[in-house]
Amino acid sequence: MRARDAARALALTARRLWEAGLIAGADGNLSVRLGPDRILVTPRGMLKSELTAADMVEVALDGRHRRGFRRASSELDLHLRAYRRRPSCGAVVHAHPPTATGFAVAGIPLDADVLAETIILLGPVPIVPYAQTGTRALGDLVEPYIPDHHGVLLAQHGAVTWGPDLAMARIRMESLEHAARILLAARHLGRVRRLTRRQVAALELLRERNRDG
Ligand SMILES: [Zn+2]
Repeated sequence: MRARDAARALALTARRLWEAGLIAGADGNLSVRLGPDRILVTPRGMLKSELTAADMVEVALDGRHRRGFRRASSELDLHLRAYRRRPSCGAVVHAHPPTATGFAVAGIPLDADVLAETIILLGPVPIVPYAQTGTRALGDLVEPYIPDHHGVLLAQHGAVTWGPDLAMARIRMESLEHAARILLAARHLGRVRRLTRRQVAALELLRERNRDG
């Protein structure tokens, strides 16, 4: 993706995530891969609803600032881990989706054997133990999950999803929150009926066939 198009897509996606209530204020951060060794990421500490393409920051995969007037997101390390660890990763979305984060606060994982669409799009979404935002410790805890998952919940914090492009990383974040809302409704109703192992296996096969990055 060309840098200018990527910058516009990041600004638009940040606004959409805010409109959908998945981030508030300066929460969250997004990035896209521009090449094998460089990414474009949202800036530190700015309202996500008001970002423009000119606010985005180009960073090398080793974390060095390459271009842009702003400082890169304070959660840059989390993004860099995904690109380094998973060469096919094209985009990363970090947000604070309220219901999914509620599960992370309660320490209840999103059940992996309940919703067909979630199994195909996301697969299991583990809860990564707590570490302070913006620290290498958080990256160290998330990194082992990157090769075999499409997203994780962060204890007492939020969620991260990734994918081959920005659209898929965003779809996964929206789907994750939607799945959490449905599960919460089912838990309120008092019963969670699960797919059989055979049904789950058939859906997992579909996910493997569509394996993207
Ligand atoms: Zn965060």
